[in-house]
Amino acid sequence: MRAMKDKDYARPDYDIVIIGGGPAGLSAGIYAMRAAMKTVLIEKGAPGGQMAINKGVENYPGFIDINGFDLSDKFFQHAKAYGIEILQEEAIAIEPGANFHSVRLANGTTLSSYTVILSPGGVPRTLGVPGEIENLGRGVSYCATCDGFFFGGKPVAVVGGGDTALEEAVYLAKITSEVHLIHRREEFRAGRILQERLAIEPKIKVRMNTVVTNIIANDNGVSSILLRDGKGVESELHVEGIFIFIGFEPNHKLVPAGVAMNRQGYVLTDEKCESSIPGIFAAGDLRQKYTNQIVIAASDGCIAALAAARFVEMKKAGFKS
Ligand code: NAP
Repeated sequence: MRAMKDKDYARPDYDIVIIGGGPAGLSAGIYAMRAAMKTVLIEKGAPGGQMAINKGVENYPGFIDINGFDLSDKFFQHAKAYGIEILQEEAIAIEPGANFHSVRLANGTTLSSYTVILSPGGVPRTLGVPGEIENLGRGVSYCATCDGFFFGGKPVAVVGGGDTALEEAVYLAKITSEVHLIHRREEFRAGRILQERLAIEPKIKVRMNTVVTNIIANDNGVSSILLRDGKGVESELHVEGIFIFIGFEPNHKLVPAGVAMNRQGYVLTDEKCESSIPGIFAAGDLRQKYTNQIVIAASDGCIAALAAARFVEMKKAGFKS
């Protein structure tokens, strides 16, 4: 690790700086080390990101059922086995450069690197109602693919009116006894095809112009939710799970100016996970793509690291990017 003045040196501190230690970042770390790249992974919290708080992961190939924390630890130990340097620090800014890029840390240090892999993940948007955070993993979920199975034959609610809410409501209708879809407006934001699929699903009951005001739980987890409709009428609905799909917030605050993003704040990349600035890559939930899953984040990390390694080799050989 060197100081900012070293930006003038011909060779940067690192070949690859990875920001974020979730499945994308740790997978990138494994592939970067196997490609003999001088690599550092910066993670301000515990390794695993969103994956680590997942009660049960049942769709990561090779593991029929594994606790998210345990799977995170396996990723972490795998990366550590290759001797990757891990800095428990917060990255606060990325400054793109012509020859290499700089990463500023909260502790005042600046690292230079040929390439940067941005894998800071993101967070599901929350409703902000009482009982939501307290009952996370006890009936409150932001992932039907991860948690739907635990609600076999039970009544659940889905909140939201976008593509994700409708798609996941249809998915949950195959597993649960009934799905109450609750949307705050009179119209869905979701596309027509999904609305048509929803309309033919007998187990889905739609409540428009309705908001959730409270999530109530007993010793077994969520037992009901309180609702308020457009006329201000309040009611209680018995459900044992509530799935909230009101959008996702990618962690894009580190994305430097000049990197192309879409309107929702996802980084646009090519098939190598490279952004519009050469040498800056995005992997995992920050990257615009069809869907977000652990296996896809891990795949992104692999692609970004292999492409970054190739980029570094070309730079060292004197080729322009
Ligand atoms: P989204 O399109 O932003 O929809 C979020 C929904 O949540 C909206 O209906 C919104 O209501 C509602 N909402 C937001 N904040 C709320 C709050 N505080 N309380 C209650 N409701 C709230 O998010 P998304 O459905 O996750 O989709 C994200 C992007 O991925 C979209 O571009 C979508 O098209 C895409 N996507 C595509 C597919 C597909 O093509 N198969 C599948 C999934 C996602 P309002 O409508 O009233 O604003």
